[in-house]
Amino acid sequence: MIPFNKPVQLGSELTDIGRAFVGGQTAGCGPLGEACEARLQAMVGCRALLVSSCTHALEMAALLLEVGPEDEVIVPSFTFVSTANAFVLRGARPVFADVDENGNLDVGEVERLRTARTRAICVVHYAGNSCDMDALRVAARGLPIIEDAAQALGAEFRGKPLGTLGFAGAISFHETKNVGCGEGGALLLPAGELAERAEYLREKGTNRRRFHEGLVDKYTWVDVGSSYVLSELNAAYLSPQLEAFAKIQERRHAVFRAYQQALEEPAERAGAALLGIPAGNTPNAHLFALVFRNGKQRTDYIRHMRENGILTPFHYVALHLSPMGQRFHDGRPLPVSERLTDCLVRLPLFFNITNSEVDTVIGRTLEFLRGV
Ligand SMILES: *Cc1c(COP(=O)(O)O)cnc(C)c1O
Repeated sequence: MIPFNKPVQLGSELTDIGRAFVGGQTAGCGPLGEACEARLQAMVGCRALLVSSCTHALEMAALLLEVGPEDEVIVPSFTFVSTANAFVLRGARPVFADVDENGNLDVGEVERLRTARTRAICVVHYAGNSCDMDALRVAARGLPIIEDAAQALGAEFRGKPLGTLGFAGAISFHETKNVGCGEGGALLLPAGELAERAEYLREKGTNRRRFHEGLVDKYTWVDVGSSYVLSELNAAYLSPQLEAFAKIQERRHAVFRAYQQALEEPAERAGAALLGIPAGNTPNAHLFALVFRNGKQRTDYIRHMRENGILTPFHYVALHLSPMGQRFHDGRPLPVSERLTDCLVRLPLFFNITNSEVDTVIGRTLEFLRGV
């Protein structure tokens, strides 16, 4: 079987994690966690807090913004549940916006959906491709923008790292992302002054971090909070991948280009298309997607690939169609989100995929496209 994803393997993982274990600190905020934060900060150019997931980074952003029960937050419908849940947990209502052909929030929706209650906009840089952040900032007219940059480490919009362009950015180190440590994430804080409060939230509402740094002489309860710290064992797994980021990215880009060169024209001849890369982007080869003409064509493709030992999953089920999403949605159709729900499929793309596996995926896909 060729899986859709395999966690990155650099080869030194057992040694790295073993060394952290023998070193005696397995809880978070140890030397390896700090090394990850330093490396991330150098990559993105702003304050980065290592946390236990992107989901938790989004929850922290909602806490920092003090989103509450009277509030509405505009989110794209075509996304992972965490984008909406972070605000639902605070009692707010997610207002589902449609996306554009690239799977990113349709900026025109902001004007249509905003009300006196709109507290924030949460965008998703789908596939590591940026929303048009300039147009969005104009449409937002001062509303804070949170970036779900779960998929976007290494990607840029007009030369600026994604996740650093709004109020806060959330990165994921889930095993399916470009670099991963099982479960993990980071909260990016372009406004550095939010970092002190963010550290309290991460440390169960305590000032433990400041205590360890000798900045206060008592370690005590100072704020609300939860346990959002990343374990040192996960940091030991993550740290070498951040060091090897250029190498990981080079491989992913090579696989992405191979798919693109082989499949773009045949896909179009079959009435399908590659997911577009919008202007202004420096993409990060997070995901290679085909968008078929209709749901049947996609189902047939997934079956064809599976029969040939290749896993090509789809996602997402647009949130406004989900059982939970329907509780918040007014029933308005969101045609592009619905079409991507039915027609989009993802091809295997991971660091350790072999050239012969890539060739097999291409060969089997061409075989299918020629038959439609
Ligand atoms: C992966 C992903 C998440 C969740 O990340 P976790 O680290 O698993 O919490 C959230 N949003 C998007 C868009 C994602 O792709």
